[in-house]
Amino acid sequence: MSGVLRKTFVEVELPSTPRLAIVRHGERAYPEEACGFLLGPWDGRPSERRSVRTVREAANAKTEERTHRFVIPAPEVLAVERELEGSGETIVGYYHSHPDHPAVPSEFDRDHAWPGFAYLVLAVERGHARELGAFELDPETRTFEPRRLFPLLPLGDSR
Ligand SMILES: [Zn+2]
Repeated sequence: MSGVLRKTFVEVELPSTPRLAIVRHGERAYPEEACGFLLGPWDGRPSERRSVRTVREAANAKTEERTHRFVIPAPEVLAVERELEGSGETIVGYYHSHPDHPAVPSEFDRDHAWPGFAYLVLAVERGHARELGAFELDPETRTFEPRRLFPLLPLGDSR
């Protein structure tokens, strides 16, 4: 895993089924944050694309300030990684929602992010998904950079 940390990708493939799962999770969790794993095939080698095949909800372990912070505890991450071993899928990124905040990562998100993974942020406004942003952490500057999300689908008809 260590060899890929400096590599970047340019786009995140998110088909409609996992996209809808993220939207529904974000709306259901409102006004709290929803968070979870993005799972897909990735052999760890440099690749221009992260492909999301399924998503898995995580328990939002940050009990204080659950409305604008999320942390997935390391043991839960390790458990998912272990379970996926040999399945052809791995953790390619993470998603979480921003209740009544824009689909832009916060400073807290940045401080808790790892390079090489896709980060999706879903803005949920008054209970309705409004925007989905994709980002990657630049390991040199420790800033989030936007990534292309495709296919581009509307979030609106999610019910
Ligand atoms: Zn956030």
